[in-house]
Order: sequence, then structure tokens, then C-alpha cells
Amino acid sequence: MNTFTAGGGGQIVVAGAGYAGLHVALRLTASLRNQPAVELTLVDRHDYHQVITELPRVAGGTRAADAVRIPLQDVLAARVRFVQTEIHGFDLAGRRLLTRAGPIGWGRLVLALGSRPNDFAIPGLAERTLSVYSASDAEQVWAAVSKALTAAAAATDPEQQRRLATVVVGGGGATGVELAGELAEILPEVARSHGLAPGLPTVQLVEAGPTILAGSSQQLIEKATKILSDLGVQVRTNAAIAAATEEGFRLSDGQLVEGGVFVWAGGLKAPELVAESKLPTGHNGRVKVDQYLRVLDHLEIYAAGDLASVTDPRTGHVLPPLAQIALEEGETVARNLDAELNGRPLEVFTFRDKGFVVSVGTRRGVADIAGITTGGHVAHLLKDAIEWEYRQSVKHLRGWDPVPG
Ligand SMILES: Cc1cc2nc3c(=O)[nH]c(=O)nc-3n(C[C@H](O)[C@H](O)[C@H](O)COP(=O)(O)OP(=O)(O)OC[C@H]3O[C@@H](n4cnc5c(N)ncnc54)[C@H](O)[C@@H]3O)c2cc1C
Repeated sequence: MNTFTAGGGGQIVVAGAGYAGLHVALRLTASLRNQPAVELTLVDRHDYHQVITELPRVAGGTRAADAVRIPLQDVLAARVRFVQTEIHGFDLAGRRLLTRAGPIGWGRLVLALGSRPNDFAIPGLAERTLSVYSASDAEQVWAAVSKALTAAAAATDPEQQRRLATVVVGGGGATGVELAGELAEILPEVARSHGLAPGLPTVQLVEAGPTILAGSSQQLIEKATKILSDLGVQVRTNAAIAAATEEGFRLSDGQLVEGGVFVWAGGLKAPELVAESKLPTGHNGRVKVDQYLRVLDHLEIYAAGDLASVTDPRTGHVLPPLAQIALEEGETVARNLDAELNGRPLEVFTFRDKGFVVSVGTRRGVADIAGITTGGHVAHLLKDAIEWEYRQSVKHLRGWDPVPG
């Protein structure tokens, strides 16, 4: 048995209680039953886990922010020490996490701090756009939309009304498509409640590339485009944003996209503190790992989720930042920590693709599963089922705790 000698002794510290980190903690709880010397600590700035995949519903006002926050005390076993604090750096040589609550030593560290919106250094973007990366962000989008419609109702100039009632979403990936669809479906009713014509609000989806949902099958893209068009979303492809100004998004061809609310969903990068950490990083600042998900040159640190740059050996491509991938990586990390503790060989991470599902509006969606593309109500039901199953799995894993907390 190996109880990690250096710095933090037998301490396993998991940084981040998102999809990857929470699953490492939940999965490890049971396997630590026979390891009393090993301490398991989970650190996050929030005392809740956020079901980020449901944020478009919060941004569209169909779900309360609190409904996507799962209190960690409800899912963590007594065996897990939870520390709510902001992590602000790493002492790699001393094997310590630097936090507002003081340093936390590790024998093994799991880095699972997720990602941040990437503004690609586009002038004005970070200051003038909202993002959808937390329950609070999503709440702010909904508040901004409501405020813009209130202002539109008070305006007398029809041109100004039209502009205020336009929501512009930058980035036509899954997040942008889900957000645009959700808002387009809900806005006519909201407009009516503000005394405005239901047809007044518009959603524009602005994408720099030649297509939305880049990397997906042509069939899926066509189905999603058709649903968006039915919902009245104006999709603009090959429309690169050069700057965000007070007037709106200035495109690289000089056109101006005006609106009352601007949301950026165009890309992600690793958190700043990772960039400053001297850990080996690749594209978008994601941390480079080996086939066992250990950080290169720092084999006592694992990385999982959006923060980890994991290459799929079958395609040679880095895996995208997705919850289903974060969960699978979290499970491999938990098994590898268990293997280390029990002197077994480590497991190579292999991604098992379960398919791709995107909701488009409140009733329809698109899905690519096992080579079959579907679009419509079934795909939306599938998305609901995945989210329900995820919430159940979190509760079920809590049930594995041998010592009820
Ligand atoms: C709007 C939206 C919709 C999405 N929909 C889907 C979908 O339908 N399907 C899908 O597969 N993927 C989806 N994704 C992607 C998915 O949410 C991410 O891939 C997933 O959340 C990554 O998990 P993670 O554990 O790496 O990070 P997160 O889940 O982001 O967790 C990171 C954790 O680290 C904590 N943290 C970060 N920095 C610090 C710090 N300095 N100090 C303390 N704590 C810190 C955070 O509070 C958080 O709890 C969506 C993303 C967005 C934004």
C-alpha cells in the first residue's frame, strides 16, 4: 500500500467540485473505506455543485438559478472534508494549494477547476458582454433580457424598441445554440407580458465559422438550423466579431450588429491561475497530461475536465470541453488514485463517446447517437433524460458512503 509520502502525507486534495472533481470525490469515498490514513479534501469557492448543462434554461427564465445549484452537504459523505475557499495559486515544490483559507498540503492533487470564457482578445468583448458560465451568470442574462424588454416597452421610437428587444449571442457552438433557442422560444411570451408585440423580440446568433455546431454531422447541423429558423433565430455564419463597442458587435467586414443584450458563448480557456502556475499547458491554456491523466512532469498531480488537455489516441485530437468527458475523466482519476493506494497498475484513460445532444428551444433538440441523427421532440426528451440521470447519479453515489454523514 502507498499512502503518498511527500508534503501532504496521505492527503488527497481535489480542487474544484464541478463535474470532474465532484465525481472524483464521490467515487473515491467508497474505496477509501479501508484506508483510514488517507484524508480526502474537496475545495471549491462555492458550497454547491452547479449543473452547468442546465444553465441555458436559467438564462431563458424557465428554471430558477437555485434549481441548478446542488448543495455539496447534501451529496458529500462525512468522509470527505469540504473546504469552501478561493484557490489563488500553487506551491508545486512544497505540494501545497494556496487558498484564502491558508495553504492545503497534498500527497496527491486532482486539478478540476473547469474553464473560463475566452474573449480571444477581441476588444471590448469581456467588458460589454455577458457570459453563461455559472448560475449567477445565467441569472444575469435573464435579468438583462427582462430589463431590455422593460426599456423597449417604455421607448416610443419603433427603431429603438426593435434594437432594445434584440438579443445577440456570439458563438454558434452548443452553448450558443442552446441559449439562442431557449430565448427565441420564450421571448414572445415575455414581450406580451411587457405589453409589446410578441413578434418584436429577435435573437441573432453570430458565428465566425462557416457553420454552427462545428464538428458535428451535416445532418445534425441542418436539423438544428431548421429548428432555429422555425423559432425565428437569425443565424449569421462567417461573421467574425472584430470588436464589441457601445453600439454593438462590429464584424470584421465592417457591419454593425445592434441589440439590447449581448452574450458571449464563443469559446473557453483554462482559468488564469493555471496559466500562472508553470504547469505544462497546451491550446487555450489547458494542462497537458499523460495517458493516465497525470500532469506531465508532475506525476503526483492529476487533471480532469475542461482544464485538462487530453488527446484522444484514436483521432489525435484534444477532447472537447464537455461534461460527459469531465465525468469519464473523473472516474478514471478516482480509479487511478485507488490503484495507487492499493499497488495496482494505473488505468489508461479511454473516452467512450455516448453521443451528442443539444436542446434547441424549450421543446425540441438535435442528437447524434451511435451514428443516428434525430431532431425534434425526442431529442429534447433525451436531453431531459440525461440531465435527470445525472442528478440521480450524484445522489446514488452519495449512497455509497459506508459512514452516513
Ligand atoms: C451553458 C453551458 C451549457 C453546457 N451544456 C453542456 C451539455 O449539454 N453537455 C455537455 O457534455 N457539456 C456541456 N457544457 C460543458 C460542461 O458544462 C463542462 O464541460 C463541464 O462543466 C466541465 O466540468 P469541470 O469539472 O471541468 O468544470 P466545472 O464543472 O466548471 O467545475 C469547476 C469547479 O471549480 C471551481 N473553481 C474554479 N476555480 C476555482 C478557484 N480559483 N477556487 C475555488 N474553486 C474554483 C468552480 O466553482 C467549479 O465548481 C456546457 C457548458 C456551458 C457553459
